[in-house]
Amino acid sequence: MTVAVIGAGMAGAAAASTLNMAGIPVDVFDKGRSPGGRMSSKRNGQSYLDLGAQYFTARSTAFVQQVEQWLAADVVRRWPADCYRYELGRLAESVDQTTRYIGCPSMQAPVKALLDNNPVHLDCRISRLRYLQEDSTTEAAGWYLFDQHNNSFGPYQALISTLPPVQLQTLLATVSQPGEPAYGELHSLITQLQPRVLLPCWAVNMQLAAPLQTRADAVFVKEGNISWLARQNSKPGRATTSDNWLVHFSPQCSALLLQAEPAQLTALAKAEMELIFQQTITVTGALTHRWLYAQINPAVTQVKVDYSSGLKLAIAGDWLLGGRVENAWLSGVAAAKEVLADV
Ligand code: FAD
Repeated sequence: MTVAVIGAGMAGAAAASTLNMAGIPVDVFDKGRSPGGRMSSKRNGQSYLDLGAQYFTARSTAFVQQVEQWLAADVVRRWPADCYRYELGRLAESVDQTTRYIGCPSMQAPVKALLDNNPVHLDCRISRLRYLQEDSTTEAAGWYLFDQHNNSFGPYQALISTLPPVQLQTLLATVSQPGEPAYGELHSLITQLQPRVLLPCWAVNMQLAAPLQTRADAVFVKEGNISWLARQNSKPGRATTSDNWLVHFSPQCSALLLQAEPAQLTALAKAEMELIFQQTITVTGALTHRWLYAQINPAVTQVKVDYSSGLKLAIAGDWLLGGRVENAWLSGVAAAKEVLADV
């Protein structure tokens, strides 16, 4: 049997790797130009700038063991960041015991390591699905996937989706020929998904004319328009010729500025940094990126979405377990195990 996985982020890569270890071949599909999803970095000369996930932590035993393997393979390193907090108009050091990890040389590196040797169809946006049940007499049963050019892939004996819920809802609504009783399971899945579980985030990376005078490597910003600031060149393996700072806007501000122009966002990010650090900044270059589905909306509860045995469909993604890289990995492993237990 072959399994299809939609999405080559951490959840999809963890699912594919788990199935591969059990000897199951997997085809992975992603609309992006490289694997990684929200763990994405942009090349910057000899180095990389992280635009999505900034670091990750490891709390569960299973993920700690996985991180140990990545550390040994040097695709992950520890980031001993000097963290600060900005609150009530004050910048103060914020010491904690958290061990922070980053991908090396880029945030995608651990995702790529999990997908090693696994075929990944990139630039391949799955836009339509078809599901034929076992009792179909004319064609082989299973999942058929169609991309933006109407190329068809399949049949696959099982499907794992790692898409954000709103995109998954749209895709599941295209499923043709599910037949009964699978149709009922499909309908129930669609209604369980919470479209607003992930909120947007604007990322702005600014290259500064002169190094900022601060000991801070990262700041958790608790008021104003932004939520996070980090000196990219403080990360191991991310040396750059100039001082580079990444700003994440808060979900509320990102939603308000969804259609803003890069120049407006850069000006706002610069003003916020000047206020926080009480220094004048000269920006010599900027890069902006809009994440439509970034991090968990604490006001929305996503119920557990069960594996559908009738459809041989498993759903994974960080949003099912509360967001974050570790939960993406855990959800991908769990989805693969559900498929393995059923086929
Ligand atoms: P994704 O990485 O979103 O993967 C889904 C994949 O599906 C994507 O690659 C996408 O291209 C693909 N896809 C979508 N639609 C289709 C389609 N129709 N056809 C084919 N492919 C499709 N986590 C932390 O732990 N620490 C942090 O500091 C942190 N900061 C963050 C900051 C930002 C700005 C963002 C955006 C995220 C941050 N996160 C952080 C969250 C972390 O990045 C995610 O939890 C994790 O990467 C999610 O992995 P995933 O595989 O579930 O989803």
